[in-house]
Amino acid sequence: MWNYLEDASNYQGHAEKILIPETEAELVGILAEAQASGTPVTIAGGGSGLTGGRVPEGGWSISLEKFNKMEIHEGRAVCGAGVILRDLHAAARRSGQFYPPDPTETMAAIGGTISCNACGSRSFMYGATRRWIERLRVALMDGRVLDLRRGDKIDFGVKPVHRPRSTKHSAGYPLEPGMDWIDLFTGSEGTLGVVIEAELKLLPLPKELLNGIVFFAKDEDAINAVEAWRSVEGLRMLEYADKPSLDLIREKYNDLPEKAAACVIVEQIVEDDSAVDAWVERLEAHHAMGEESWFGSNEADRERFRAFRHALPERVIQLVRQMGFPKLGSDFSVPVEKNREMLDYYRGQIAARFPAPHAIFGHIGDAHVHVNLFPASEELIAEGKKLMDDFARKSVELGGTVAAEHGLGKRKRHFLPFLYSEAEIEAMKDVKRLLDPKWLLGRGNLFPMSPEHP
Ligand SMILES: Cc1cc2nc3c(=O)[nH]c(=O)nc-3n(C[C@H](O)[C@H](O)[C@H](O)COP(=O)(O)OP(=O)(O)OC[C@H]3O[C@@H](n4cnc5c(N)ncnc54)[C@H](O)[C@@H]3O)c2cc1C
Repeated sequence: MWNYLEDASNYQGHAEKILIPETEAELVGILAEAQASGTPVTIAGGGSGLTGGRVPEGGWSISLEKFNKMEIHEGRAVCGAGVILRDLHAAARRSGQFYPPDPTETMAAIGGTISCNACGSRSFMYGATRRWIERLRVALMDGRVLDLRRGDKIDFGVKPVHRPRSTKHSAGYPLEPGMDWIDLFTGSEGTLGVVIEAELKLLPLPKELLNGIVFFAKDEDAINAVEAWRSVEGLRMLEYADKPSLDLIREKYNDLPEKAAACVIVEQIVEDDSAVDAWVERLEAHHAMGEESWFGSNEADRERFRAFRHALPERVIQLVRQMGFPKLGSDFSVPVEKNREMLDYYRGQIAARFPAPHAIFGHIGDAHVHVNLFPASEELIAEGKKLMDDFARKSVELGGTVAAEHGLGKRKRHFLPFLYSEAEIEAMKDVKRLLDPKWLLGRGNLFPMSPEHP
């Protein structure tokens, strides 16, 4: 969708060659040639990443788009790295099943979602991509191709790194002695190996789902509702958008209630119609705009609501491109009990320091909202970057992470030391040195360049 020298965050790069291998042997040959000539290689998936991870800064770009074979079986799908999520979702659905991770952008490729450990709107119930990988086929820079099953342990020692207390986390390697190979490669942002193929778990489609977009006239009521609704049985999506976010898409959705100051988007696995009555009570109890909220239970409603939710990040990306400023969007997640404190911090700092538009929306069920800043001047770009740094520090202070689902790539790699000690980062670099001694793969992702790893 995006060209090979940029990604959805508008990060731009350059490459000497763009290579699109058709077979595993061809890919392995390219990696061998790169290894022999000391040429950096950057792997391109669907291009929907938001951190510049797939954007080369020299060397070769290798796209896995031709690795698009897909087989659907009961309980599992075997997908080439280039299979697009949209195609997996459609094929799984035809077999009465679904693939639980839903990073909303369906043009992402399986290889990219594995490399970022993507999450998205249903992570509230199903967690991140890592949980759904049963087998992974990975090419290494030394010419080996590993076929790894869940439970296959790494065959070298690693020093452990700590894990933040947020429910979502995708920053650096989650090192643990005796960990699964699959867990090492997942979320490694194309720095350790090239994902060729994956076997992913599928679940049977729920018989009935209830979807709602609940509007509130007061933001505070929306946040109170979120805290109360986390425990609703069968809830698999709990998303939020503030007023500035709703205003961004009002033109497209002219039926959006005029007085709406926030919305909460829910999706629940239900047994029968009695679930609707329970929502009527919940809406009343939390002072929602009951009459004007939207509910639905069929596929068309679901698609309409999905498009509504997805219109938010799409509009942000469109604005960033139109206005030509760097994307200033956060991906921090904190322990759920710190959700309100983090939100208050975001709002307080923005009010005090950023006199320009902003929008907050996202996966509030996991205390993981995306704060988007729209700077209108060079001065505000600089202040916006400082704000993002302070948000990252606050997230860590509250026990959260510096990247919940997008990874760090090149744009955000300076956050890694906010979360991890020098010794922990060295432990990660030890693994990188072991699997990619010449530091060629995904160069510039996660770690900055230095004379010791050029
Ligand atoms: C509108 C919009 C909404 C989004 N919403 C969400 C969301 O809700 N949740 C979420 O998690 N993300 C979201 N994203 C971000 C994005 O979709 C994910 O980060 C996704 O995982 C990127 O996949 P991709 O195939 O597009 O990867 P790319 O951008 O092509 O690459 C991402 C990284 O993966 C590496 N990589 C790609 N393929 C391979 C491979 N085969 N082997 C090794 N490394 C590889 C690249 O080198 C790069 O570091 C959104 C993006 C957009 C544009």
